[in-house]
Amino acid sequence: MGPADCIFCLIASGSAPAKKVYEDDKIVAFHDIHPKAPVHVLVIPKKHVATLTEYLPEDADLLGKMMLLLPQIAKTLGITARGYKVVINTGKEAGQVVFHFHIHLLGGGTIEEV
Ligand code: AMP
Ligand code: ZN
Repeated sequence: MGPADCIFCLIASGSAPAKKVYEDDKIVAFHDIHPKAPVHVLVIPKKHVATLTEYLPEDADLLGKMMLLLPQIAKTLGITARGYKVVINTGKEAGQVVFHFHIHLLGGGTIEEV
């Protein structure tokens, strides 16, 4: 369990709404609420981890699964051919605002900075 006020924990548990595009026992992917591109999806682990920095060697399988999910979602949402961008903001000065690990998937047209 993560912090009770973590919005991504609430989305992961189904307690807060999200436009989900993928879900399994460990991972959820959903549309960003303020999209910076025509397609802007966030891939998150259900288990709360604040940043990429906190991950350990035993998390390699989870991280690998999240990484491999990105091209699958890109294909499903039809953004593969034109190209897509994958971003992980880590820490305040890098622009991280939500401190529950997430991977941005952006594409389908003009991509703004995230
Ligand atoms: P970051 O700056 O990397 O921490 O990105 C956080 C992202 O989460 C931003 O792109 C926000 O628009 C997005 N976001 C925040 N709250 C929600 C929410 N409730 N549902 C979907 N996306 C959200
Ligand atoms: Zn969380």
